Amino acid sequence: MSFSNASPGKDVSSDDLKSKIPLVTSPKLKNHVVHVAKVEISQNTFVVMAGPNTVENEEMMVATANSVKLSGGHMLRGGAYKPLTFPYRSEKYFETGIDGLKWLKTASLESGLPSVSEVTSVRNLDSVASHVDMLQIGTRNMQNFDLLTEAANTNMPILLKRGFGSSLRDWLGAAEYILNQGNDQIVLCERGVVAPHTHRSTSRFLLDLQVVPAFKELSFLPIITDPSHATFWAPWVEPLALASIAAGADGLMIEVHPDPRNAAVDPLQAISFEEFGALLTKSFGVFQLIRSKNTQNPTDSKE
Ligand code: PEP
Ligand code: MN
Repeated sequence: MSFSNASPGKDVSSDDLKSKIPLVTSPKLKNHVVHVAKVEISQNTFVVMAGPNTVENEEMMVATANSVKLSGGHMLRGGAYKPLTFPYRSEKYFETGIDGLKWLKTASLESGLPSVSEVTSVRNLDSVASHVDMLQIGTRNMQNFDLLTEAANTNMPILLKRGFGSSLRDWLGAAEYILNQGNDQIVLCERGVVAPHTHRSTSRFLLDLQVVPAFKELSFLPIITDPSHATFWAPWVEPLALASIAAGADGLMIEVHPDPRNAAVDPLQAISFEEFGALLTKSFGVFQLIRSKNTQNPTDSKE
């Protein structure tokens, strides 16, 4: 189906396209590419960002980076500043701040994988920006408009996660803030939304796969999914990752850890190096199948 602003999602009116989100929905973004060091991210490519939830120490970061690279991953993730739900920290549950950023950078340089890490506040923007290749704005900050504006003004590429209670319209509005500062280097990331039925008591979110084609009707920016945070349950990461690709996602963010069940943060959702390797092999296969130019779209013959 060709790109058309004539049939916006029900949540976005044609007036919105003109007056509220003209930049993020602009046809001028057709074939737009986001550059993160040497990695190109667009609606025509498939990118995998992977790594632990938290940068715990240098050794685990370097081991993870090398393994992600070996499996065919393109970027390294890891949080140094974490938006943790409860204020208490312990030897087992911590964030590593500036030390973590240094370890992330070492692992990134050693493996050659560009890095992405979360900036949780304008207070740590400068330190995150000086150690990584891409800034991540997390679900809890999607509508922190000061942070969006300041992050945009670094001119660095930005991974904009969807607020877990935000509509597509609000998410587009957040991206518009970044574009309005003259920064078009944006990748969106669906990471699960709150929903009454999540099918396990440990799962807080439901991966909204429907938002992927809905977003693509409106914008040419790349969109990826994060099945790790959405499911909070390692055995569901692979099926939801593959389903994301089938739904049209341009990439994945996956939590990988050398010893998943002993991860400092979110141990239930991380997968092992071996599981990650197997997942990527299947992911590349599904991407080929879905996006191959030779794959006939069943609706084509009916039009
Ligand atoms: C993360 O990626 O580590 C993270 C905290 O994600 P989210 O903002 O989606 O919860
Ligand atoms: Mn996390």
